Amino acid sequence: MSYVDDVYAKVVEKNPAQPEFHQAVKEVLESLRVVIEANEEEYKKSALLERLTIPERIIQFRVPWVDDAGQVQVNNGYRVQFNSAIGPYKGGLRFHPSVNLGIIKFLGFEQIFKNSLTGLPIGGGKGGCDFDPKGKSDREVMAFCQSFMTELYRHIGADTDVPAGDIGVGGREIGFLYGQYKRIRNVYEGVLTGKGLTYGGSLARTEATGYGLLYLTAEMLKCNGKDIKDKTICVSGAGNVAIYAIQKAQQLGGKPVTCSDSTGWIYDPEGIDVALLKEVKEVKRARLSEYAAKRPSAEYHEKKNGEHGVWSVKCDVALPCATQNELDLEDAKALVANGCFAVAEGANMPTTLEATEYLQKNGVLFCPGKASNAGGVATSALEMSQNSERLSWTFEEVDAKLQGIMVNIFHNLDEAAKKYGMEGNYVAGANIAGFLKVAEAMKAQGIV
Ligand code: NDP
Repeated sequence: MSYVDDVYAKVVEKNPAQPEFHQAVKEVLESLRVVIEANEEEYKKSALLERLTIPERIIQFRVPWVDDAGQVQVNNGYRVQFNSAIGPYKGGLRFHPSVNLGIIKFLGFEQIFKNSLTGLPIGGGKGGCDFDPKGKSDREVMAFCQSFMTELYRHIGADTDVPAGDIGVGGREIGFLYGQYKRIRNVYEGVLTGKGLTYGGSLARTEATGYGLLYLTAEMLKCNGKDIKDKTICVSGAGNVAIYAIQKAQQLGGKPVTCSDSTGWIYDPEGIDVALLKEVKEVKRARLSEYAAKRPSAEYHEKKNGEHGVWSVKCDVALPCATQNELDLEDAKALVANGCFAVAEGANMPTTLEATEYLQKNGVLFCPGKASNAGGVATSALEMSQNSERLSWTFEEVDAKLQGIMVNIFHNLDEAAKKYGMEGNYVAGANIAGFLKVAEAMKAQGIV
């Protein structure tokens, strides 16, 4: 059995019931095969792939808190410190009922390569909890966040591990978490990113993932002789990533016509009204049906299992920005049949392996999330730099750096794919480019 197959088999055996983690490892190892096989003996002798697929540390803890009715609730908290070869652990916290250790491990594993691709000195980590902030009062969210941080604080620090937001963790949650960290540690340091502007946050962090997605997509199209201008774009999700992807797509002259949330989706042939979308999702935290109620040109569709949702709409470019495995083989077939020629992932692993393969085989330009959504973590790293300098940069400065980073990421993965004989395979290019830097650093640091 080849070294790659052997390590993958061990990952499956040692991590039962963690399908998302298996999926993420499989995708990465498959595309590294050519690199590993060129130097198999050396990698095998130093057990590099085993060390890469076993987290440096997993922290799991209970999170007790009291709800508004006086009832004690208990949730499961996690922080996976996956790899610190190139910098302090960095990666978001996800608060969602679906969170479990396997999901956090898949996200932490992906984060290693994503962070490496940014070119910035940040290692890979991820955390979260099966707590659902939806429908909770602000006091309940605060009580939960304070309890979560009362355990997490001892494992993180500005030079150790710097969490950020993810699904269910926005400005409100980061504020409560930061307040509790400062209270316990009595230090004012950049231990979290995504902070508010009045207490160490970076301008453009809120917009960064969505904007970065579009900067990279525009570059990918340009390098393939196409232009985002006047293209019809299908977006899924209606959260942080989706909203700012839609906004930047419009600024670049594209026409996003869809968005979705966990209960339904919108088709607005006149183009999504971003101000209205923000009001419904960011201010009122309401369902998308409220968007349709206020916008005569929009159709609202309830989410139904087995239907293609936003992917049934004819488009040139698709940007999945909601959650993992939301675009399956049937959706990929619908996109290809409708003439879609580019897919760039805003979410983490939103496209299943089968769907990715189908898109690639049918000539669709496909950029994986670890490259195309890296703008969020890159700007988080810029927030860390500003915190260390005790300075704040202007929106334009941060945005210009973000744009440079995204363009650079695309060229790095494009070149890596070409160098290893897989021109146009941006999944392989991203994995290889991300891996080589981390592997080199691990090699230099000895057996740790
Ligand atoms: P948000 O919580 O802000 O938004 C998530 C959106 O997706 C919401 O509209 C939510 O619906 C919808 N959604 C969640 N689960 C499902 C589901 N099962 N089916 C359909 N819709 C769903 O999260 P973000 O926008 O921050 O994150 C989205 C994705 O992007 C995630 O995969 C995250 O890991 C990734 N990402 C985020 C980064 C960031 O900077 N925020 C950085 C890099 C990656 P509802 O409104 O009903 O909750």
